[in-house]
Amino acid sequence: MKPLCGRAIILTHHYQRSEIVELGDAVGDSYGLSKIAASRDDVEYIFFCGVHFMAEAAYILSKGNRKVYLPNPLAGCPMADMAEMTDVLEAWEILANFGGDKRIMPISYMNSAAGLKAFCGRHDGLICTSSNADAAYKYGLKRKEKLFFFPDQHLGYNTGIKFGLKPEDMVIWDFSLPSGGLTEEQINRAKVILWKGHCHVHTNFKAEHVREVREKYPQARVVVHPECSHDVVALADAAGSTSFIVKYVESQPPGSVIAIGTEINLIHRLAHFHPEMKIFELSGQICPICVNMYRTTVNDLAYCLENFADTHPITVPDDIKMYALIALERMLEVH
Ligand code: SF4
Repeated sequence: MKPLCGRAIILTHHYQRSEIVELGDAVGDSYGLSKIAASRDDVEYIFFCGVHFMAEAAYILSKGNRKVYLPNPLAGCPMADMAEMTDVLEAWEILANFGGDKRIMPISYMNSAAGLKAFCGRHDGLICTSSNADAAYKYGLKRKEKLFFFPDQHLGYNTGIKFGLKPEDMVIWDFSLPSGGLTEEQINRAKVILWKGHCHVHTNFKAEHVREVREKYPQARVVVHPECSHDVVALADAAGSTSFIVKYVESQPPGSVIAIGTEINLIHRLAHFHPEMKIFELSGQICPICVNMYRTTVNDLAYCLENFADTHPITVPDDIKMYALIALERMLEVH
């Protein structure tokens, strides 16, 4: 086999271990890494150090022209698993009585299986990340009366509030209950129907953590990810995607005190690269680690690079790929 040099790239998510990020060609959030995957026609292989849905999206965006490998195939996302296709289809069947395609646009957060992305593509919808969720809401509510947003209720809710919607404009679809636990009137009135999913890493941050930080460090800035619940986001100084958090820190003057509400690997790296500031994790009590992101080790990456020819790349059936690509390309257009 020809050497890999020049024919492959290693993409790493911000939540990966630092030793993995150091080995990568690029580090970013899922939006930034998707853009790279979509544009690097010059490479044959992508080694994606992240979780399964990210590698799947990279494969779809490369239009199947590049082989994509996930160094640790067990790295999944529990939030993505909270929106199972059968449950979403069941919900959509009920929502058909409220106008379906004509009145409702499905929007899926990037953190979802390829089948759900394809569902959005089939129904005029799109994908968003925490970087472009506001733009996706704008796109959706310009064209349809309602949005059906999954799987993260918190990103959906925080985006709605930022967009100017009122709490009463949004309802939660509890997939464990008949009709999502909602009355006809609630569904009719809602502008956004939010799937009852969440990220267990970000929902660990609580409003009292923000209050405690403010008491201890009155000068502190608090920045959090919008997968945190709204009471935390409302008390923070700023909220945004992982890339936003990185830029926010970089924009602060030396001597700043910054408490961050997101995954611990990113926080540790920011603290390491900015010794001129005091940077720490918001709660001070929990270790907000994404065990799925943490699964990928340097050994996994080395093994994958050496043996990829004997392992299975990430693939997606053609029909799913086709519709998921429509929804993902809309995501890249809408920003
Ligand atoms: S941090 Fe949360 S949303 Fe992101 S991959 Fe981990 S479990 Fe999924």
